[in-house]
Amino acid sequence: MVVIEGILNKVPSDAQVTSTAYEGANIVLYTKNKVFFKEGGDIIRALVDEFKKRIDLRADSHIRMDAEKAREFVEKTIPADADITQILFEPARSIITIEAKKPGVAIGKDGENLKRIKEETFWTPLVRRESVIPSKITTNIRNVLFTDSEYRRKFLDSVGKRIYELRKKSADDEMWARISILGAGRQVGRSCFLLQTPESKILLDCGINVAAQGKYQFPYVNAPEFHIEDLDAVIISHAHLDHSGFLPYLFKMGYRGPVYCTEATRDAMALLALDYIDVAQAGLKQPLYSSTDIKEMIKHCITLEYSEVTDITPDVRITLYNAGHILGSSFIHCHIGEGWHNFMYTGDFKVKSSMLFDGCALVFPRLETVMMESTYGLTDDMMPPREDCEKQMIKIVKETIQRKGKVLIPSLGVGRSQEIMLLLEKFSREEKIDFPVWIDGMVWDITAIHNAYPRFLNKDVREKIFYEGKDPFLSPIFKQVGSSKERKLVLEGPPCVIVATSGMLTGGPSVQYLKEMADNPKNSLIFTSYQSEGALGSRVQKGEKEVQIDDTLVKIKLELHTLYGLSGHSDREELGSFIQKVKPRPRKAIIVHGESSKTLDLASNLHKTFKIETIAPRNLESIRLR
Ligand code: ZN
Repeated sequence: MVVIEGILNKVPSDAQVTSTAYEGANIVLYTKNKVFFKEGGDIIRALVDEFKKRIDLRADSHIRMDAEKAREFVEKTIPADADITQILFEPARSIITIEAKKPGVAIGKDGENLKRIKEETFWTPLVRRESVIPSKITTNIRNVLFTDSEYRRKFLDSVGKRIYELRKKSADDEMWARISILGAGRQVGRSCFLLQTPESKILLDCGINVAAQGKYQFPYVNAPEFHIEDLDAVIISHAHLDHSGFLPYLFKMGYRGPVYCTEATRDAMALLALDYIDVAQAGLKQPLYSSTDIKEMIKHCITLEYSEVTDITPDVRITLYNAGHILGSSFIHCHIGEGWHNFMYTGDFKVKSSMLFDGCALVFPRLETVMMESTYGLTDDMMPPREDCEKQMIKIVKETIQRKGKVLIPSLGVGRSQEIMLLLEKFSREEKIDFPVWIDGMVWDITAIHNAYPRFLNKDVREKIFYEGKDPFLSPIFKQVGSSKERKLVLEGPPCVIVATSGMLTGGPSVQYLKEMADNPKNSLIFTSYQSEGALGSRVQKGEKEVQIDDTLVKIKLELHTLYGLSGHSDREELGSFIQKVKPRPRKAIIVHGESSKTLDLASNLHKTFKIETIAPRNLESIRLR
């Protein structure tokens, strides 16, 4: 029997349930009975226990307060010091989302404010934390979700129907699972993997190789086993373009299914995709997709918290875990065929903790096959201790500023930039040295997303943010810069630090700063992120004395430094220690996301050390999971 019918059979006959709907794997009952809406909590909890599904009870539109009156009631009920920024209504789902800078104040003691709103207006209120750092783009990204509530309801319902009602195979059919490598096989960039079972076609990541040219940028979506119209779901491990940058293109091609990721990943990947369009346009290239495609992508995101277990197809259940790499980055754990096989894809991950994030998760209920990255998989890919790198960065900044130079830090925008900001803030505060840190364009918006989701940060930073006035991202040393006019003022101004995208100098403002700063030996350039073969960053790092930027031949005379100890990736030792520490130890490891030599070296080493089966597949190969 269909799960929803089973639930309805158990609901009391006077409950007046007028309609039901799926919201992805969750089930919503709409009631016309005011008393049941207010007091039916215990009955619903019993149903949740029995059916092991999340069930929400909401009010039918006939008993709800008029939206305008409800808005007034919310404004009256929530104290002004909660600092409400927006109140958004989704009539098709009977939900009000209240965005506030102080969510705790908005919710009230033991949730009393929300309880009052619910009981008086018959709307279901949700409270979201709004970033204290103003960012128009992030506000717009979130608004996309609320503009078409009727569509959202239908979409979430269709996802639930696919999970619970539209089965393809019978119980007697053979179970199998395989993974096809559509990108990031023996290379870094364009991560994209197709997981297939009798009931599922799921894409894990959908990235773009920003350092490559032409068709080599894109994953192999022309592989014979990939059909966009058959795709059940996409799951994104984290926001970096090499994991999410091709996703809007799927929507351009007509994909309208769900995208599972964390809330922070959703916001950050939308922002990175918008920036990718800007960078293409600035380089006079035709962008791959438009902001309309990015909006479609946002509309189809279903966000999950770490450790939240969700069915996404009839035979795959997923759970996201902290990967320690960037804000919202996740391991994707797939429980296939009621426990027939447990497979986990790591995306990019970091075992050790950093200033911003806790180290990755290491304990899982079950695990047989792991597919892991190997960015730093070579035997000599050892990173110096983070403390040493921090000291060295401070030393470079101090010396450059003393000799009246400027420091350029090209950065990926997500993750390392904010780590570097925390470090510079600490240095300036403790040593009482005042110098401006210019945060260019998108890095600022990404920082706003960090501020909106402190729950993804480690305990230290989280407490500083919640503790009034100590939010390190709000330090006055940080100044926003966005236009080319402002950039000119920064370049003509006093000694400073500049944090700008992109990290590999493949486009974006970091390239423009380099163009102006390169021939002055007083200036410094610090690389902190991975440099892909062929990228301008890699060539400068390897010592090319002259490079072409736009139509200018630029002489590289500034001081060059590389600090890999601040990386969000695991070094070779951590990659090994991951297999050593992870519980339970997997039987098989599929090594991806590394240059050829690194994937092969790591695969052979893990096999010898831990006696597990390892494989380093090339693009377009498929592997049986069991
Ligand atoms: Zn990454």
